Amino acid sequence: MNVICPACGDSNEFAQPHPYHAGFANQGFLYNDAGTLTLVWSSFDPAYEELVGQFHPWALTPAQRAVIEAALSSAPSGGNWSFANVPRCNSCHAPIGESITSSIYYLLYPDSLQPEAAGEPGRFRSALHTGA
Ligand SMILES: [Zn+2]
Repeated sequence: MNVICPACGDSNEFAQPHPYHAGFANQGFLYNDAGTLTLVWSSFDPAYEELVGQFHPWALTPAQRAVIEAALSSAPSGGNWSFANVPRCNSCHAPIGESITSSIYYLLYPDSLQPEAAGEPGRFRSALHTGA
């Protein structure tokens, strides 16, 4: 799918047919500070539940969000993962979508982190600086 940037009109191409719905798949998603990478994990990942308990990632309190953000390693390209971060245009860096606090739909950027996609329970731990 293509997302046309409302600011510069450029086309941002994603290898997905439509925005993914985190609620249907019981997933959490965060963008990095640059807004060009996505971190996706399972709501039921044990390493995630160890941090905040059995809550869906889009339903966390600000205090619970802060626990997750503090436990995460930096994004591969630098900067942090944050619940407040939004997806951004590859050309002009204007927002082209919303953060997990405002939308259940997400965009999956190339080279994103998908611990769950590896098919091993507990892979969220690999995204934490406390993990291995
Ligand atoms: Zn743009």
